[in-house]
Amino acid sequence: MEGALIARDKVGVQDFVLLDSHTSEAAFLNNLRKRYQENLIYTYIGSLLVSVNPYQELDIYTVSQMKLYRGVNFFELPPHLYAIADNAYRVMCNEYNNHFILISGESGAGKTEASKKILQYYAVTCPTTEQLQTVRDRLLLSNPVLEAFGNAKTLRNDNSSRFGKYMDIQFDFKGAPVGGHILSYLIEKSRVVHQNHGERNFHIFYQLLEGGDKDLLCWLGLERNPQKYTYLIQGRCAKVFSINDKNDWKIVRKAFSIIDFTEKDIEHLFGIVASVLHLGNIQFEEDSNVCSDPLWCSSSLGYLYFQVLSPLNVDLAFYARDAVAKAIYGRTFTWLVNKINGSLANKVGFFFEQFCINYCNEKLQQLLIEMTLKAEQEEYELEGIEWEPIPYFNNKIICDLVEQKHKGIISILDEECLRPGEATDLSFLEKLEEKVGDHAHFVTRKLADQKTRKSIDWVDFRLLHYAGEVTYCAVGFLEKNNDLLYRNLKEVLCNSKNSIIRDCFLLSELDNRRRPETVATQFKNSLTSLIEILMSKEPSYIRCIKPNENKEPGKFDDFLIRHQVKYLGLMEHLRVRRAGFAYRRKYELFLQRYKSLCPATWPHWHGPAAEGVERLIKHIGYKPEEYKLGRTKIFIRFPKTLFATEDAFEY
Ligand code: ATP
Ligand code: MG
Repeated sequence: MEGALIARDKVGVQDFVLLDSHTSEAAFLNNLRKRYQENLIYTYIGSLLVSVNPYQELDIYTVSQMKLYRGVNFFELPPHLYAIADNAYRVMCNEYNNHFILISGESGAGKTEASKKILQYYAVTCPTTEQLQTVRDRLLLSNPVLEAFGNAKTLRNDNSSRFGKYMDIQFDFKGAPVGGHILSYLIEKSRVVHQNHGERNFHIFYQLLEGGDKDLLCWLGLERNPQKYTYLIQGRCAKVFSINDKNDWKIVRKAFSIIDFTEKDIEHLFGIVASVLHLGNIQFEEDSNVCSDPLWCSSSLGYLYFQVLSPLNVDLAFYARDAVAKAIYGRTFTWLVNKINGSLANKVGFFFEQFCINYCNEKLQQLLIEMTLKAEQEEYELEGIEWEPIPYFNNKIICDLVEQKHKGIISILDEECLRPGEATDLSFLEKLEEKVGDHAHFVTRKLADQKTRKSIDWVDFRLLHYAGEVTYCAVGFLEKNNDLLYRNLKEVLCNSKNSIIRDCFLLSELDNRRRPETVATQFKNSLTSLIEILMSKEPSYIRCIKPNENKEPGKFDDFLIRHQVKYLGLMEHLRVRRAGFAYRRKYELFLQRYKSLCPATWPHWHGPAAEGVERLIKHIGYKPEEYKLGRTKIFIRFPKTLFATEDAFEY
């Protein structure tokens, strides 16, 4: 028997579009809460999936569940990640279109878990051959390696991804996964040298110390106790109840061998991890006798041994030490991603970082709005249905404020970075006031004082983002954007015996005529190419919501969730969906489902499906304002119309 055209869960509606009071935020939250309390963590807004982190293992990710969703129409089963994954896959196979699934949400909302579950879904349900199994295993195993080096315990999430990730899976014409590619964005390097209280460094350090065997640690000159390492003790929580470093080490170690790393690579990689720990333990003393005398320091590690002749004072020497550690780790991470990509190839300071992340979200929001409206508009046009464009807030104005050439915040920051010795974070702020002070989304300090009466510190600037107002402290912007590494340290690294380090620090960088791109510009460029990639593909969206701050199952914090509903633009998305037609179905499908409601179409209709549908809806009494007939589909404006039909059908 055919499944119901719209599957209905016991509780709430499974698609927000079906809510009677569709513009009310309270009704939206009510529905989300009701469902969450029944462990129904997924709800649609049309084809967008809203997911609320359950903070507990649910039995909805079994192989039999995966098989249930395979090849089934989107609305026939309760909402699920698998339905989104399956739909994207089938559209790709049937229409030879590229497709992307954009997963967004705040830290701890469940993005990484969602992406891993989608990957597992493809691994289980896509056709494969023995040869392709290697690709499949590599795709799956690239995750634990990337998480070991790129994830860390934060206050908000015990397994927080400290880098942005875009992953491509390539399928052949039969729909089998044949390769992949990963792009990574802005790894949070500052974590290597500093962690806030209650947070950890990247997982790999603890995994190595906890899981590495005695011989390995001895060879690396490491002690098992993380308390011995300056870079690991600042957060004061080396051991975390929910994390099993020893076990994770085993998984990572095994993953390395499957994703094509040679023993030499692995040796070099752990050499680097160890060297970062040793670097952190280097101490400096000033030689007061000869103040211009160079300062000597040496690494205690024989492996990546170097001596640095450093004419710096103690503070600068510490600064330089940390800069080297960050640079080594950051570039090694990039090297790692490239290396994983090789194996997948078809044979992938807080305020400054926060500024970049918010800019990224702003761009993705713009993409979402553009593509949702574009897709909607195109479909109406294709079907010959009249469409009145609905107004929406276009956040291009904010993106421009950040990224515009010459006039945007990044350009202004870059310009200041070109004046070493003269420019300061404060002069950057002054330039901002001067150049974008009267922009509608930039709150100048003067205005903030007079109008909002909210005080704004003299080192702060404030932007009106799409998601709300954010205050940034400009301290450290110049330094982080420059990401300077002393030339003599760079020279040492360029000549390292460790081949990974040599790959990461190319001799060409020592060329004084070449000015390296600033961090913000690199980020802007990589974001622009990501958006270009995404624009060329069909979109699916998953919006993840974090239900409470305590990682607690079953707890639905209204205040916290309302905020996320707002800044994820969910109400806006719902309005866009509702402004047009809530549901659309191919004539054949609609007729097949409801033909028993009309004598003219029951049991068989032999004419064109469109005509059959016309007869059918006339018989059941649809009013003209309730529907429109397109070229291949019927469009139904209100969900209640379809519900009434569905009820008539059931009784
Ligand atoms: P960040 O931005 O910090 O990387 P994130 O959105 O990637 O956060 P996740 O790491 O995916 O968040 O999720 C945080 C934690 O929430 C997971 O470690 C897991 O314990 C729990 N979690 C998330 N999604 C699910 C799920 N579908 N089922 C069970 N637990 C989940
Ligand atoms: Mg994550």
